[in-house]
Amino acid sequence: AMASRNYASVSKTVGQYLGRPKANGKYTVTLIPGDGIGPEISKAVEEIYDAAKVPIDWEPVDVTPSLINGITTIPKPAVDSIYKNTVALKGPLATPVGKGHQSLNLTLRRTLGLFANVRPCKSVEGYETPYQNVDTVLIRENTEGEYSGIEHVIVPGVVQSIKLITKKASTRVIKYAFEYARANNRPKVLVVHKCSIMKMSDGLFVKTAREVAKEYPDIELGFEILDNTALRLASDPSHFKSLVMVMPNLYGDILSDLSSGLIGGLGLTPSGNMGEKVAIFEAVHGSAPDIAGKGLANPTALLLSSCMMLRHMGLNPYGDKIESAVLKTIASSPANRTRDLKGTASTEHFTQAVISNL
Ligand code: NAD
Repeated sequence: AMASRNYASVSKTVGQYLGRPKANGKYTVTLIPGDGIGPEISKAVEEIYDAAKVPIDWEPVDVTPSLINGITTIPKPAVDSIYKNTVALKGPLATPVGKGHQSLNLTLRRTLGLFANVRPCKSVEGYETPYQNVDTVLIRENTEGEYSGIEHVIVPGVVQSIKLITKKASTRVIKYAFEYARANNRPKVLVVHKCSIMKMSDGLFVKTAREVAKEYPDIELGFEILDNTALRLASDPSHFKSLVMVMPNLYGDILSDLSSGLIGGLGLTPSGNMGEKVAIFEAVHGSAPDIAGKGLANPTALLLSSCMMLRHMGLNPYGDKIESAVLKTIASSPANRTRDLKGTASTEHFTQAVISNL
């Protein structure tokens, strides 16, 4: 069996799992199947979980939003379910372009206070990419920054968009990065910023990092300008093996897709959205409308997100087992890989191959 991968930490102080099993020993997890390829890849997860006998009962919820007083609002039963179960697995949600609803993803993250977005990227053995030694962990501030959603027209032709940085949100995400580093034996936290230009906003993020670091004398603290990090990631990602990156929202969004590209694309990269009380695990990719309903989607990213979830819940043996089966399947042959990984397998073929490798 392949070695287990450090895809999630169980932190004792921030963002820990607060759920409990039922009398029958099973855990309930909220499932948001999502749009586009969401239902297809969610089905793959359900089938593999059944085969692996994971002690989880799924609670599917509908998150179709309504506009209440002009504010995009998630249905109460969905929010209640997530608070009750304290953990959810989520498929991608399509964001309509233009007027109307705000991004539902942003709304979910804000409604539930999911302040840290953990995005690990690790090379898949047996699937060849320009680099074979990628092992990055990026933690993105998830609630404010450039994505605070505060925009207005000042005069026709002039638009202002506000980047909001608060000490409170910076503190909790940076603290989470240190906790993650400690729990996963990565000895350094690297703060990625653009302090040279955004002196006040990124300045506050950097200053906060220096303060938080005092509580973690066992972890090294480093700083790097965003452009340098992008250059180094693309030219030699091996530098990032023993550290955890943490950064404001927009930078994390972009650098995490760059990292995905280093290991073979969006079909492979999982993530966790961590809050004080609840956590939502989801693939980094979107609803892939171009291939939706065609049976071509790669469920790997959602599966690996679910493995992060299992470890978050303390169900590590199930997470390790499913992850090993997924990686073994990808490595086995192009016939068992989906098209995004230069293979020929359908979603269903891949799913059955994973089950046979459990
Ligand atoms: P996307 O990630 O959906 O697709 C980008 C490309 O990657 C497409 O060619 C797609 O076919 C491919 N791809 C993505 N996931 C794949 C998978 N699992 N298997 C095989 N191929 C895969 O990005 P997009 O097209 O820019 O966005 C589509 C919609 O998704 C938009 O409405 C966007 O707002 C939304 N979105 C949602 C999330 C989320 O829910 N967290 C994240 C990103 C985008």
